[in-house]
Amino acid sequence: MVSAFEKLTKILALEKEQGYRRKAVIGGLERFASFWREEARQEAEDLESARLVEEIVALLRDYPALGDRGARERIVEEILSKLSQKPRRVKEEPPEKEEVVEPKEERLPKRLGLDSPVIALLGIGPSHAKRFKRLGVETIRDLLYLFPRRYNDFSSLKTINQLEYNEEVTIIGTVWDTNVRETRKGGVIVTSIISDGTGTIQATWFNQPYLAKHLPAGRQIVLSGKIDEYLGRLVFQSPEWEPLEKELIHTARLVPAYPLTKGLSARWLRRLMKKTVDYWSKRLPDHLPARLRQRANLLDLETAIGQIHFPEDQESLERARRRLSFDEFFLIQLGVQRQRHLWRSKPGRALTIDEELLRSFLLSLPFTLTGAQQRALKEIVNDLRQPQPMSRLLQGDVGSGKTVVAAAAILLTVANGCQAVIMAPTEILAEQHYETITELLANFESQISNLKSQITVRLLIGSLTPLEKEQIHQQAGAGDADIIIGTHALIQEGVKFEDLGLAVIDEQHRFGVAQRAALRQKGTTETGPFSGPVCPHVLVMSATPIPRTLALTVYGDLDISVIDELPPGRREIKTRWLLPRERERAYSFLRSQIEQGHQAFIICPLVEESEKIEAKAAVEEYGRLQKVIFPDLKLGLLHGRMKGEEKEAVMGAFKRGEFDILVSTSVVELGIDVPNATVILVEGGNRFGLAQLHQFRGRVGRSEYQSHCLLLSESSTLEAQERLRAIETTQDGFALAEKDLELRGPGEFFGTRQSGLPDLKLARLSDVRILEQARTEAQVLFTEDPDLTKPEHRLLARKLAEFWRGEGDLS
Ligand code: ADP
Ligand code: MG
Repeated sequence: MVSAFEKLTKILALEKEQGYRRKAVIGGLERFASFWREEARQEAEDLESARLVEEIVALLRDYPALGDRGARERIVEEILSKLSQKPRRVKEEPPEKEEVVEPKEERLPKRLGLDSPVIALLGIGPSHAKRFKRLGVETIRDLLYLFPRRYNDFSSLKTINQLEYNEEVTIIGTVWDTNVRETRKGGVIVTSIISDGTGTIQATWFNQPYLAKHLPAGRQIVLSGKIDEYLGRLVFQSPEWEPLEKELIHTARLVPAYPLTKGLSARWLRRLMKKTVDYWSKRLPDHLPARLRQRANLLDLETAIGQIHFPEDQESLERARRRLSFDEFFLIQLGVQRQRHLWRSKPGRALTIDEELLRSFLLSLPFTLTGAQQRALKEIVNDLRQPQPMSRLLQGDVGSGKTVVAAAAILLTVANGCQAVIMAPTEILAEQHYETITELLANFESQISNLKSQITVRLLIGSLTPLEKEQIHQQAGAGDADIIIGTHALIQEGVKFEDLGLAVIDEQHRFGVAQRAALRQKGTTETGPFSGPVCPHVLVMSATPIPRTLALTVYGDLDISVIDELPPGRREIKTRWLLPRERERAYSFLRSQIEQGHQAFIICPLVEESEKIEAKAAVEEYGRLQKVIFPDLKLGLLHGRMKGEEKEAVMGAFKRGEFDILVSTSVVELGIDVPNATVILVEGGNRFGLAQLHQFRGRVGRSEYQSHCLLLSESSTLEAQERLRAIETTQDGFALAEKDLELRGPGEFFGTRQSGLPDLKLARLSDVRILEQARTEAQVLFTEDPDLTKPEHRLLARKLAEFWRGEGDLS
């Protein structure tokens, strides 16, 4: 006999085949729904199926009301997928064995330790080991650190007569009767009646026939789960259960739910974790010194691991979480602070600050520094005076005027007879810095007659001939070039300086702790820019405002100066999110701005596959815009596959006003300064993160003209919508950064790899208090024992090495 469910499956397949024309059944699917319902209800042998029938009927009844094919298709697909889930006649759990996966001491190979592979544990075979590997678990220690994703709170214990629909509870009772039934389609239902003296309740499990023999009449059991209703009576559907006489793992408590992976059943894993935690957590040495634990009021590691897996109550869980989050922050802080310590323990050069020179430089500027710029400059100047090398981050929103602050520091350095270098992430940026610096200095020098000699500035970029490069290398080595500006790569490649006093790294958030460390490390070898008897002062500039907690972690190795104020007179950049069908309007707006003598940017959507494909797409879009939309205007094109000199030519031409519109991929993101550009149109705005959109927007609004930012985007996901709304209404980069962090988390915000941070398992960047505490404790520890050589810190030193393993050499 064909079941109702099979019948419907066939009909829908037919409907699909015929193109959703409502022809598969005479009278239409909506009429069929009523017949089918009767039939299917008869066959529905359990609550689950009965509910499924109702859901399907509701969907069928909606069918004719829908005008478009797409919607009909979706409905058919949805029903088909429901139907395919229906006959789940597979066994969900392996037979309940009394013999368990306990790592029994006498049966373990000798010298089994925390770093032994999990396969060494009793009950774990090769296929389990493979599955664990997928969860990132290879050793017993890893297993202890496989934390629950959440907990089911079954701690509320009730009697049967107190139960209410839909609550999560635990009851304790005696099995009255258990029976096993086969359904018509070969499924198995185990039903038990449980009594606790105040009443009885029925519990059913599907397709776990082996349960029957574990639930004989008379057995005392504990049941936990959500209370359901069937035919007007309260019931348990597939509740967790276990015998009362055993230690409770699955019921009557906060029950851990682990990340699931195919082939590792929840119950099996929970039991394994219990045994593992019981046996191994006490063998896990605590890397935190006892004194520190006391001071910071933290649980010991054994307790914390025990409680994070099988918490006694919410409070213990919270304490466990605090301890383990602390560990993560603490190790990060130790890593970044060791970095800072290493850097600062090298001999630096105390520069003499020529106050008079500084004053006249500032007077030569066409503007006065903002309060924030002055503050930052003061902090930098103070660092330059010290005999330890500076290690400072200068953070400021796009257009906040970081360059001029750096220029002042450079001038002061050069005045000491030292050299300075600026390293930029791209050639375009290096070129721009070169222009800005030469202009600022030329302007200054023309006003100052008592300078001993001209300051020589050199630009080191890839498009130079080998001879030209060689010349610059020579000048740098002989001390004939005072300031060298180039990309990171070129400068790292082996420029020797006669006497480098200051290195400015313009990183635009491209580097993390580890990369920065690597950069310095390379620089401190024989050939790099940081070689020599003393270390230069280092100033890192970042245009990405980041939230404080993130700054303290990602930039924890640096002192931080923030320019949180824009130069006066800047106007708000009007930002609008437009739907793709409003594209024409956007184009005519661009045109009107150009007619007023301004210029525009058009940013092509982000193509993630490769720079090559992205470049190709940009070339096409450029062609279309030039031919079809703006045939009478001059358009330029910029993408990442162009050679340095080509880019330079295009940028130069755009800056000089030779193009009306610059069509570009996201390479334009990086600090290009074209004051006459007043509008930027971003295609596919939903594909970019908030920080990046904010960067794009920073390309305009660099003059007294009113500027505009138009974001073209589908309505896309809710999250993308929220991002687009945030950027429409907020100008403040720091606020946007907080929002981005909140919406997408630190991984997305930076990309973990980009941030150079080890993954955080438990710690949340919103845990400011724990972070601050970890930072303070790391500082204390460093003053006490900077190299972690004291015996009580030996474990910690090892843990630290492990934690940063693979994240670049931070040792
Ligand atoms: P950032 O590098 O921080 O994005 P820039 O250093 O490129 O910003 O400065 C942006 C623009 O603002 C430049 O044209 C610069 O000359 C100008 N500028 C910098 N400081 C001030 C100030 N205090 N007042 C007015 N304009 C300023
Ligand atoms: Mg800049």
